[in-house]
Amino acid sequence: MVPVGGTIGILGGGQLGRMLASAAAKLGLDVIVYCPDENTPAARAAARHWPGAFDDTAALTAFAEACDAVTLEWENVPVLAAETVALAGKPMRPGPTALSVAQDRAEEKAFLERSGIPVTPWRTVDTVRDLRAALADFGGRGILKTRREGYDGKGQVRLGEESDAAAALDALGGQPSILEAFAPFEREISAIVARSPTGETAHYAIPENTHRGGILRRSTVPANIAPAVAQQARQAAETLAGALDYVGVLALEFFAMADGELLANEFAPRVHNSGHWTPEACLTGQFENHIRAVAGWPLGRPDLVAPAVTMDNIIGALPAPGEFGLDVSLTLYGKREVRPGRKMGHTVRLAID
Ligand code: AMP
Repeated sequence: MVPVGGTIGILGGGQLGRMLASAAAKLGLDVIVYCPDENTPAARAAARHWPGAFDDTAALTAFAEACDAVTLEWENVPVLAAETVALAGKPMRPGPTALSVAQDRAEEKAFLERSGIPVTPWRTVDTVRDLRAALADFGGRGILKTRREGYDGKGQVRLGEESDAAAALDALGGQPSILEAFAPFEREISAIVARSPTGETAHYAIPENTHRGGILRRSTVPANIAPAVAQQARQAAETLAGALDYVGVLALEFFAMADGELLANEFAPRVHNSGHWTPEACLTGQFENHIRAVAGWPLGRPDLVAPAVTMDNIIGALPAPGEFGLDVSLTLYGKREVRPGRKMGHTVRLAID
């Protein structure tokens, strides 16, 4: 267990690390953010920034030695970096296995299936021939996704009857990919769970997520789904976290079909954008519960304190703080440069009777 006043290391410097650092500070813990650039949202909010590349074993070892436990806020941290921390004798939470499964869409789908969690039909695609065969299996339609490093809809091409398979694979640089059957979902939801080193879990209410251009725009809570479907989503997240022997917060995204069926899309081995409403709307938010889990502390209760919640992302623009009403909680990530599609902050609105 990390002692009160101890130090948590975070691999990665984005907004998730910034919000984790704030949550850790609230618990009296110090955070060291490890990332190459000091001008990042997390580095500027942490007690300390440790400059280093994610493939610099010596720097990672020295960093780990300065921490009581280490976590991550970016799922593309090299697995070797996580292994280096573990080799330095410090708890790496979540561990290298969860990271390596999450980093490869084919491994991820296969792991979900092995865990008994249904996914959309998929095929690995390395060549145009593979792609044509997979398209034939899926009625000529599907979504081609690179196995590695896709996020927010990047590294994806939608294919229909008219599409040119060779051009689609070219557009992804010919990288090893998968083709997923198109899921005609009714809505998208996610299950967010915190799991401690002793296997204790805390489940959040299920948000319903709307995307534009592959980027999350809004999460509303609770999702408009039957209680049995919500329970099934939570159970799948619990099963996955258990199968990975996971420590920390994990988010599992689903396509919810009209008949109540749930198909898992992907999971994030970290706190998740669709849980950004939890600090305001729950007794214990996802960032605090992640830090508690990483520190080996008991988890806090995730219960909702409002009957309904809306979280909106602020994307590609930096609004004036006064633009939002007094009933809106505003979070800005401290990013100095606005770019199209870049997440700059979010708002949370609670429905209070
Ligand atoms: P992903 O990067 O896999 O989370 O995909 C980004 C978004 O694209 C998802 O949130 C969905 O809105 C959409 N999408 C991805 N895969 C599929 C699929 N197999 N069928 C339908 N829509 C999809």
